[in-house]
Amino acid sequence: NEFTLAMIKPDAVAAGKARDIMHAIESNGFYIIAKKYIQLTEAEAKEFYGEHEGKPFFPNLITFMTSGPIYALCMSKIGAISAWRALMGPTNSKEAREIKPTSLRALYGTDNTKNACHGSDSTNSARREVLFYFPDISFP
Ligand code: ATP
Ligand code: MG
Repeated sequence: NEFTLAMIKPDAVAAGKARDIMHAIESNGFYIIAKKYIQLTEAEAKEFYGEHEGKPFFPNLITFMTSGPIYALCMSKIGAISAWRALMGPTNSKEAREIKPTSLRALYGTDNTKNACHGSDSTNSARREVLFYFPDISFP
């Protein structure tokens, strides 16, 4: 099995969709092995998204991600990283509604920034991102 890090972002939490998203996660065969409900500080959000520093959308991303509480989830499944990105759909929720209308970003997000959820994009980022929220977790 593989670990990945998911976030249910402030837009989806504020809209009351966290339960629905966690239900979709579990009914798609992921095990939620750790869960944390927190509001990121600006410094924490900048550290988590450090790879995007300097990109034009970075200030909006940090403002959005610190705007309210989120859920961080460490999830396990065979092929978890790619399976979770497939379940989320394309980054832009508007595009997701056109090309993958059953995906979570199509169902619960708004646009290119407010897109309801996050998923690690590689084994290296999964390790970094899981340990960011759950430093005591031991990897398989
Ligand atoms: P995530 O990392 O959240 O799973 P992703 O890997 O699909 O999403 P990234 O390229 O890593 O997308 O971007 C991280 C986040 O930054 C996106 O989820 C989105 O909230 C925001 N973002 C990315 N690209 C843009 C853009 N062109 N305009 C506005 N916001 C963007
Ligand atoms: Mg990404």
